[in-house]
Amino acid sequence: MVCGEAEVAFLPIENSLTGSITETYDLLSQTNLHLIGEEVHRVEHCLIALKPVPLGLIRRIGSHPQALAQCSNFLAALRDCRVEIESDTASAAMLVAESGDLSRAAIASEEAATRYGLQVIKRNIANQKENYTRFVAVAREAKPADCRLPHKTSLLLTTAHEKGALARCLDALAQHGVNLTKLESRPSLERPWQYLFYLDHEGGLHEKHVDLALRELAKHAEAVRVLGTYPRTGTVSLVQKEQISAPIIGGSPEAPTANIAAPSPAAKKNSAYRLASRAHRAADTVIEIGPILVGGDAPFVMIAGPCSVESREQITACARAVRDAGGGLLRGGCFKPRTSRYDFQGLGFDGLNLLHEAAQAYGLRIVTELLHPADVDAVAREADVLQIGARNMQNFALLKAVGKSRLPVLLKRGLMASIDEWLAAAEYIMAEGNGRVVLCERGIRTFETATRNTLDLSAVPVLRERTHLPVIVDPSHAAGRRDWVAPLARAARAVGAHGVMIEIHPEPDRALSDGPQSLDFEQFRALAREMSPQQGG
Ligand code: PEP
Ligand code: MN
Repeated sequence: MVCGEAEVAFLPIENSLTGSITETYDLLSQTNLHLIGEEVHRVEHCLIALKPVPLGLIRRIGSHPQALAQCSNFLAALRDCRVEIESDTASAAMLVAESGDLSRAAIASEEAATRYGLQVIKRNIANQKENYTRFVAVAREAKPADCRLPHKTSLLLTTAHEKGALARCLDALAQHGVNLTKLESRPSLERPWQYLFYLDHEGGLHEKHVDLALRELAKHAEAVRVLGTYPRTGTVSLVQKEQISAPIIGGSPEAPTANIAAPSPAAKKNSAYRLASRAHRAADTVIEIGPILVGGDAPFVMIAGPCSVESREQITACARAVRDAGGGLLRGGCFKPRTSRYDFQGLGFDGLNLLHEAAQAYGLRIVTELLHPADVDAVAREADVLQIGARNMQNFALLKAVGKSRLPVLLKRGLMASIDEWLAAAEYIMAEGNGRVVLCERGIRTFETATRNTLDLSAVPVLRERTHLPVIVDPSHAAGRRDWVAPLARAARAVGAHGVMIEIHPEPDRALSDGPQSLDFEQFRALAREMSPQQGG
């Protein structure tokens, strides 16, 4: 950074076990860098060496002081072994590799072992297994906000040395409903016994209530510096119910919810989905799609819209119906994966423009499918949720590409996919850094031909046990016939789904795709009313 070569630097700012990393805070106050993002990284300390030698032969172990402290129980149990402090875990690994000494080891990550050609002797040697470090990404220039993502803002504050000064600043935020996520104080380097306050709060500078709060705050502080406003990390979203401010269909108090069992042995064992597993995260992941929450205890969500976007009139009518029913999420396919090459293939980007226009007009968020990795950026500019269809559940290039996007992904279950294969597919997205995955059960192929697909409702409680990710159900593609959609939607809620996705059309019998399973607006209104007695009526 000193030589100005790097465009972005990742700095560790706090650890879930040892707390704030004060050097980073002090560095931020002395530079003019901007915070442009954050990432949470799970730390798994491993003992690594040149060869898989027995533990008893190791005589020297090097690592960063934090890592050594976090593995103190393991180190205390070793005999005749010297512990050496290094500047970071990666350099400790490098020194072991360069030494060629079989009796030396380092405490570092598995990635460091791979990078320096070392071997893992023992995994997970920390005193506490759940160990996370949050990093902030810093750059010379601030980045414009993508308003569709939940944001966070970091401030550096100095207050007058008088009674109640900090309280008045915090009150300014509270008055405008701004939720504080962290407050850290560091001594001022220039003025002894004076302090700098570092504050993180939810919301971005582009949001009205944040803007008002900061104007108010400025009146009470001596100085306020915005360190950055940036998308919150996608993996940990522990949003409270009280923050729900958007129309979401459903959520009646008597709505049945399924209890979540303890992580199953299967979930623990399956290494194909570590990040998606309940063993990795016990709490439900709640995903924010603009003002709408999906997952955990958030109200039952109904996504609705046509199978395909067909015309401006058609998609506008659907958007109005969704809005009138109290819904917030509009679906619509623009790139259609059709079995027959001769069936309607979708309007492509022209359709996406129409979908965007209709959603804007009625204040809705968009869920839309894409088929090609090359389209991710262009689709992500207009959409709010990227849908991966059943036929692409194991299109690994596509999964990796949406994993690099910051938008939530709706991952449909493949026609012939087991639950574990489906979770392993979700892992492809999460492993790229995008933890905002919603799973959608849409029926599987069985010997039964009475329905288009067999809706596997048992997948819902199984998933609720095996994963922390939200689970929704698409009864339309499962049933294939509109009269069966409402009973299956009711059943989906009863077994613990977080929402449903329903196909609707102003004139279902004239639809260019999936007409027989699409509800007309009257049927949709009735279903919405039933799912949510307070709304949609
Ligand atoms: C759709 O949602 O319109 C769709 C094509 O669904 P699936 O991928 O489940 O067949
Ligand atoms: Mn369809």
